[in-house]
Amino acid sequence: MTKRFVLAAGAAVLAAATVSAQNRPARDFEAEITKALAGAKAAAGFEHLGTLVRTCLLPQSGGENTTDNVPDYVTNPAAAPARDTWFAEPARVFDNLYFVGGKLHSAWAITTKEGIILIDTIFPYNSEELIVGGMKKLGLNPADIRYLLISHAHGDHIGGAEMIQSRYKARVVMGAPDWNSVEKYPNRFKTMAPKRDIVATDGMAIALGETIVNVWLTPGHTPGTISYTFTVRDRGRPVTVAYSGGTAFNFVNNTPDPGIRNFQNYIDSQQRMAAHAKAAGATVLLSNHSEFDNAVGKNRMLAGRGEGPHPYEVGADWVQRYFQVMQGCARAAQLRLEQWQATAN
Ligand SMILES: [Zn+2]
Repeated sequence: MTKRFVLAAGAAVLAAATVSAQNRPARDFEAEITKALAGAKAAAGFEHLGTLVRTCLLPQSGGENTTDNVPDYVTNPAAAPARDTWFAEPARVFDNLYFVGGKLHSAWAITTKEGIILIDTIFPYNSEELIVGGMKKLGLNPADIRYLLISHAHGDHIGGAEMIQSRYKARVVMGAPDWNSVEKYPNRFKTMAPKRDIVATDGMAIALGETIVNVWLTPGHTPGTISYTFTVRDRGRPVTVAYSGGTAFNFVNNTPDPGIRNFQNYIDSQQRMAAHAKAAGATVLLSNHSEFDNAVGKNRMLAGRGEGPHPYEVGADWVQRYFQVMQGCARAAQLRLEQWQATAN
């Protein structure tokens, strides 16, 4: 991928020469890319450094996965990563929101008078200990799970969904394209495949007891990625959360077509989600990876909070800045493909 971009940049010089020879103003892609990256960096500050690093700086995954192989960790438990690489203590984060995730991947339980809404399920090899075990440690009963929202169908989020659906009869919500991929790749989702249940629609309200989770379609990371807004309570005070359901550029992005379009979908989703977060008055940003929302570090801070501010409550401006980071990094990557396309023509 990097090599290709280097080649594309070299070709850009040639193309620029050709264009100026024709007396047309050459588009300065490098300047536009620098501007997009600078915007993302400025928006990130320290709060969203993990998101900046992942989407602007690290190499991106190369394209859609069309293989259908059973993951090693399903057939051979010894192939699963060692427990100390993923284990994290569960935590009560708000009055009615509990962290039951791991060091890298998050799962969240919203408690209501009528039962529990669970968001994401981590891997098949650690959902039992982190989610079922974590809930029990915190005094919650996993049999109370009524809804399970799967942000997107990747093994690190859907891993425990089949177990939770069959054992606790929870209703499962997922985006249509991701339901399709679970059915299309039975080996890839072996032991992780809930039966098709509720298909997410934009603005869908999942209501349980006194709580409503609004579901937003945010295609990008996968075609069926969903995000949420919902209100929790901090010592009785309502606090609104924007939850981002997929972050890295994990789609066909290594060719201008369909990469440019896919990046546009991703950017549009972030813009819409930023608007929903603003309309809802979100002051907390949650994600399904601790590297993006610092959940594990913030849980530690929370333990020593005393009378101080809630470490997750960063304010409306920082929530908006999260979506600006994602947009800026996606725009920079999209521009690289536009540059490549321009030089190829
Ligand atoms: Zn993913």
